[in-house]
Amino acid sequence: LKSMLSRPDLLCEETLVAGEWVQAGDGKTFDVINPARGDVIAKVPDLSATDVERAVAAADAARKPWAARAAKERANVLRKWFDLMIKHQEDLAIIMTAEQGKPLAEARGEIAYGASFVEWFAEEAKRIYGETIPGHMADKRITVIKQPIGVAAGITPWNFPNAMIARKVAPALAAGCAFVIKPSELTPLSALAMAKLAQEAGVPDGLFSVITSTDAPAIGKAFCEIPTVRKLTFTGSTQVGRILLAQAADQVMKCSMELGGNAPFIVFDDADLDAAVEGAIACKFRNNGQTCVCANRIYVQAGVYEAFAAKFKTAVEALRVGDGLTEGTTLGPLIEPKAVTKVQDHLADALSKGAEILTGGKPHDLGGQFFEPTIVTNATKDMLVSTDETFGPFAPLFKFEDEDDVIALANDTIFGLASYFYAKDLSRVTKVAEALEYGIVGVNTGIISTEVAPFGGVKQSGLGREGSHHGIEDYLELKYICTSV
Ligand code: ADP
Repeated sequence: LKSMLSRPDLLCEETLVAGEWVQAGDGKTFDVINPARGDVIAKVPDLSATDVERAVAAADAARKPWAARAAKERANVLRKWFDLMIKHQEDLAIIMTAEQGKPLAEARGEIAYGASFVEWFAEEAKRIYGETIPGHMADKRITVIKQPIGVAAGITPWNFPNAMIARKVAPALAAGCAFVIKPSELTPLSALAMAKLAQEAGVPDGLFSVITSTDAPAIGKAFCEIPTVRKLTFTGSTQVGRILLAQAADQVMKCSMELGGNAPFIVFDDADLDAAVEGAIACKFRNNGQTCVCANRIYVQAGVYEAFAAKFKTAVEALRVGDGLTEGTTLGPLIEPKAVTKVQDHLADALSKGAEILTGGKPHDLGGQFFEPTIVTNATKDMLVSTDETFGPFAPLFKFEDEDDVIALANDTIFGLASYFYAKDLSRVTKVAEALEYGIVGVNTGIISTEVAPFGGVKQSGLGREGSHHGIEDYLELKYICTSV
């Protein structure tokens, strides 16, 4: 892998804690495995809760002088970090594909996407405006200022090993906070490469530390137990989010949670079917179905069901499964063996309840963690897939007749992250967009992620928003100053 990189030192086997590149105190490491080939590509330090204490202490010391700098100075450092991420986009993408499996073209896209948050929040650093409020008495003056919350800790998943970190760390540093990240144990290399570039960009020692570890519960607990950590931000499963929220209660810590989804994708009779197919491919099969905004349930109105199914089948059969580093691959492997099992479970459950395979339906001939992109028809609401996110290349088609019924079906879930629908009638578009109980609605588009818009869910999909001018608020506190004149 190193030989493919123009900067081989971006493949780090030490981690950045309290301003130094270190090994674990006891020398313990863990393997990073390429999901396409099953080989070990690196060994990284397996840190413990003691390292978290060290990282947080350094973060707490570094944050005050950092917050005291002019916003423009913080912005310049972040801007430099953005420039370095773009300059080294190809290396960062190769490292990501090697540890995560996604096709190289998607990895390049993710680096640009992750970097866009750094650029955006470099700009937002200069726009942390307060307000003045007319006093409640003649002699009172009221001012509201926004101040950084302090040390923030983050825990991120493996599906977007760069962007999920960038969109937390960038607003935190822009606001004047320090950050300690625990990346997924499956994809620590992207985080380490980002840390190396952050250091080169001039992020001060101790302000940003990376805790690589296989003991996620212990690291999460340590974050929640240290009183100087004032903010916990997590992207991952709803199940782990609940645990962290409960733990964070002890220190009354401010929390942001980007949790699971169960996205409906609705195709109405008046939809442009070709556009709907293109959108469904993008949002179902991007990252091999392993995103929290992937379509999980595809509802198609009866009048266009057969036509949509036929076009969708053709498009799915054109996908190319393979190693993400091979030119032309559009679907990589799944991240780990248990992800393959989940796809098989959802498929078997659907087939046992009356679904029929339209295409795919079995492990791919390449073996390992490769699975054929699969469509089933006749999906119904008693199937596992209607309540549980598959996180894999499994697309179930549900048939519906009535607009109100499909809205009720779409909303019948504990989740509320992303939703999508295709229609042309203006009053239908307005009505359905307002009725969907989701934080994000894609209308006639399957791609909704951008740094300029607020990303986040309602119901059990989470708390808070990332990206846009709202994304920095999670790292700020309001202070109201009442002055008697
Ligand atoms: P996924 O299914 O996407 O792997 P998880 O929620 O299991 O989602 O993992 C997301 C992140 O949460 C990873 O960094 C993982 O190590 C971490 N994690 C898993 N369990 C815990 C826990 N009990 N406490 C804190 N972090 C955890």
